[in-house]
Amino acid sequence: VTPDSSHVNVDYLVIGAGCVGMRIAIELKRRFPDCSVLIIEKEPSIGVHSSGRNSGVLHAGFYYTADSLKAAFCIEGNRSLTQYCEEHSLPINRCGKLVVAGNPEELTGLDFLLARGRENHVDLQEIDERSAKEIEPRVIVHEKALFSPTTSTVDPLKVMQAYVREAVDLGISIRLSERFLSAEVKSNRVKTKNGWIEAGYIVNTAGLYADRIARQFGFADKLAILPFKGLFLRSDELSGSVRTNVYPVPNLANPFLGVHITVTVDGRFKIGPTAIPCLWREQYGWCDHFRFSELTEVGRVEIPLLFRGGFDFRSLAFQEIRKYWRPNIVRQAAKLITGIENSGFKTWVKPGIRAQLVDTRTRKLLTDFHFEGDQRSLHILNAVSPAFTCAIPFASYVCDRIDTML
Ligand SMILES: Cc1cc2nc3c(=O)[nH]c(=O)nc-3n(C[C@H](O)[C@H](O)[C@H](O)COP(=O)(O)OP(=O)(O)OC[C@H]3O[C@@H](n4cnc5c(N)ncnc54)[C@H](O)[C@@H]3O)c2cc1C
Repeated sequence: VTPDSSHVNVDYLVIGAGCVGMRIAIELKRRFPDCSVLIIEKEPSIGVHSSGRNSGVLHAGFYYTADSLKAAFCIEGNRSLTQYCEEHSLPINRCGKLVVAGNPEELTGLDFLLARGRENHVDLQEIDERSAKEIEPRVIVHEKALFSPTTSTVDPLKVMQAYVREAVDLGISIRLSERFLSAEVKSNRVKTKNGWIEAGYIVNTAGLYADRIARQFGFADKLAILPFKGLFLRSDELSGSVRTNVYPVPNLANPFLGVHITVTVDGRFKIGPTAIPCLWREQYGWCDHFRFSELTEVGRVEIPLLFRGGFDFRSLAFQEIRKYWRPNIVRQAAKLITGIENSGFKTWVKPGIRAQLVDTRTRKLLTDFHFEGDQRSLHILNAVSPAFTCAIPFASYVCDRIDTML
């Protein structure tokens, strides 16, 4: 990095220090130790958005179709992040996970998930109600459940802090409070509030803003990011009161897993998340980070979806918005385990917002990871769940693709 802060020259520039950007930067520096790698992050600290505010679940990989990138990286991501936590003495709770049928209709959904799990070579066991209760005495099961022994939970912020330490030790520069403002594509330079950065190669991993940045480079045409808010409620119960994660059978028509019970690393548990459509990208609270331009931009995508969605956006939106009212989240969680009452959930956890990509022509949500690029820049556009689990092998795959494009 050249010392003059108004004009910097680097080999690789990564925009956005979430888990995906951090892992890609680390992978690039490992492959090309003599090259300079710079990460710019608009926030004054790391993990302010989804990488620091997610459920912290290392997923096992049985929700995704076998031909997807998610399936390709989830098992390996789970394994490598588990190993990473062990090597870096980061807390990990190997609590496993139950997916439970709540009624006779959901048994078919359970069979479907089991088949997907087998196709993806995931360790997944079909068990009866009695065995499920041996794993988690409070669980409510209609006849059958699936048990995933490899699902575990970590503290996402601690993982992010370890990534930063690793990056700095390798000699990667991280500039906080440095926001990408615009791009000059011909010279592959970007403008930030502190000046210009010229880069041999640019990787855009800007999460909720990745589509906007990609469009400046001529990508993400007809694609837009829709923000969906995930609210969680923390249980007042003591550590150890629930032993394992408990999930419902999801509606696989949309990419969200439904309100579930997550056992956190400290052994306590939280319920959520919701998937409430936001009106602008970082709408964490009612007015937080309000930007009129984003309201109109998001509205242009969401309003047509209400009337002519390629999926049932209207039902999803109305069903999810109702979960702003605490008892509606609690009611969903009470279908999964016994002893769940409104009085036990007084504290909201910091919400996270999913950067979900939608195809504005078909009006469908993209379910798999998606990226576009050329020999000068690459844009990660749909790093939705389980990108936190997958980040290590996904970064390696992305760097292979950069290699082939250069
Ligand atoms: C509620 C919720 C629960 C989830 N649970 C799980 C889970 O249990 N397991 C799992 O595997 N995944 C989970 N996920 C998904 C996971 O968190 C994300 O897939 C992952 O964090 C995406 O990482 P990222 O690096 O792409 O994005 P981010 O973490 O959003 O990082 C992008 C970064 O880019 C920065 N940025 C944006 N614009 C600019 C700009 N103009 N200039 C400079 N920097 C910029 C942002 O400030 C941000 O730090 C969950 C997500 C949510 C929201």
